[in-house]
Amino acid sequence: MPDRTAALMPGATIGILGGGQLGRMIALAAEAMGYRCHVFCQDSDDPAAQVCAAATVAPFDDGDALDAFAAAIDIATLEFENLPVAAVERIARTVPVRPGAAVLTVAQDRMREKNFATGIGVGTAPYAAIPDATALESAVARIGTPAILKTCRLGYDGKGQVRIEAGTDLAGAWTESGAGPATGGAILEGFVAFEREVSVIVARGTDGATAAFVPVENRHANHILSETIAPAVLAPSVAGAAVDMATRLAEALDIVGLLAVEMFVTADGAVLMNEMAPRPHNSGHWTIDACVTSQFTQLVRAVCGLPLGDPARHADARMLNLLGDTSADWPGWFADPAAHLHLYGKREARAGRKMGHVTWLLPKSE
Ligand code: AMP
Repeated sequence: MPDRTAALMPGATIGILGGGQLGRMIALAAEAMGYRCHVFCQDSDDPAAQVCAAATVAPFDDGDALDAFAAAIDIATLEFENLPVAAVERIARTVPVRPGAAVLTVAQDRMREKNFATGIGVGTAPYAAIPDATALESAVARIGTPAILKTCRLGYDGKGQVRIEAGTDLAGAWTESGAGPATGGAILEGFVAFEREVSVIVARGTDGATAAFVPVENRHANHILSETIAPAVLAPSVAGAAVDMATRLAEALDIVGLLAVEMFVTADGAVLMNEMAPRPHNSGHWTIDACVTSQFTQLVRAVCGLPLGDPARHADARMLNLLGDTSADWPGWFADPAAHLHLYGKREARAGRKMGHVTWLLPKSE
């Protein structure tokens, strides 16, 4: 069993659970620092597998593959939170997994996430647990409309979400959400008439030190992040409240790694938590080109027990997601000398699939 408290120096092998674009960008940052990366993924051509020194291609319930993976790495981190907790616990018998199973247990389930947040005084939309269809009627009566029914687990980018208005057929809404035992039931949330959606990504090291990136504004299309504006234009007190909220959540979770917190900001300046992810986040991709330390480098520093880097930005930025088949646009992006084009190596462009992103740097505001 390795010494779990010592810093891991370059030359060590970082295991990455998940083979998507976040894993790819973790690996690119780690390998630039002299670490080796070994990804555990589902396809040998996954975006992360293309750039890692080694790949294990196996399902997350393959115990032998998990054990062999754990034996080949010095530490593990993850690029998506919907991993089986049992897989993480199994790897953690051999090497540290950062963030760990306790954090995932909260972050995988919207109800636990909201209960955790409100338990430490973090504001959210009003919400109620909906374990089955019969609970929906009384919850709608209590919370009012409009409201949003969301599956507790396995929903992302708007999947598993149904908007409830006065007069909506509630049985139909329950069926449409896909909620059931496999999703841990559902949660009903009051609709927040927000002015902006913002996010804060905070890093926390093995020594408990924290460092947050500036709050950014996120614009969505069809429930998928379309554009990030860094920084968000917020009153200093609101920006401070957003950073405080993310930092308090990271500390209360005792996380080592990154915590990305999505929030709603209302017209009167209230900041409400929407959801959180214990990993790099799409709204932090701008940090690769605009910050002293990117979110990916920061994650590597945090999980390897190194001091955190400076999250300060040297420029403002605008990040545009490239969704679906945008290959016809690439020559234009390449012809723009100011466009930082990042492509994820995905061969198949399905509608809404995240294929890459472009970042433009802008003069730094205060
Ligand atoms: P989520 O998957 O929870 O991030 O939801 C996807 C998007 O739906 C959010 O980014 C918001 O634009 C919208 N949304 C989710 N929950 C609420 C809410 N309670 N009130 C208003 N809009 C919401």
